[in-house]
Amino acid sequence: MNLRDYIKIVPDWPKPGIQFKDITPLMDNGDAFRYATDQIVAYAREKEVDLVVGPEARGFIVGCPVAYSLGVGFAPVRKEGKLPRETIKVEYGLEYGKDVLTIHKDAVKPGQRVLITDDLLATGGTIDATIKLVEQLGGVVAGIAFLIELNYLNGRANLDGYDILTIIPYD
Ligand code: IMP
Repeated sequence: MNLRDYIKIVPDWPKPGIQFKDITPLMDNGDAFRYATDQIVAYAREKEVDLVVGPEARGFIVGCPVAYSLGVGFAPVRKEGKLPRETIKVEYGLEYGKDVLTIHKDAVKPGQRVLITDDLLATGGTIDATIKLVEQLGGVVAGIAFLIELNYLNGRANLDGYDILTIIPYD
């Protein structure tokens, strides 16, 4: 199965010059979604992951079926003001804008091996912030999994030293 066939490229969205990669056709197809998820599950097994952490909103879509399949928990990383209990926060820069990400203070236990998930690696800002949150809570980032990586933005350079799985790279 060629998963690339299930990604739609939307020119000039949400801003002129951005070629948005839309993963909704992949999610919309049961076989494609399962095929992508199974690859991440196999990777997470290798890394002996005991918690999955993903940033809103598409990090949830990628991470939750992986956590379910592994039988481990999922902890959400969210924009400021969305999580109801005590949080820690980190500021970060996006491909298009600036923001703050938060996580519940008790979401990660010290020493837990964490898989971080998101739909897409662009500049790496979102995942760099997510790594900081996990590590501040004492978690060990065992691996990071994306459906898509935009190689031309070189986001990997911002995630140096971490193990990364990408399902669909774009040059
Ligand atoms: P980064 O922080 O620059 O790596 O941007 C990655 C974040 O922006 C991810 O959470 C993505 O969901 C979102 N993003 C950036 N570009 C795209 C795109 O083309 N398609 C889908 N999401 C994108």
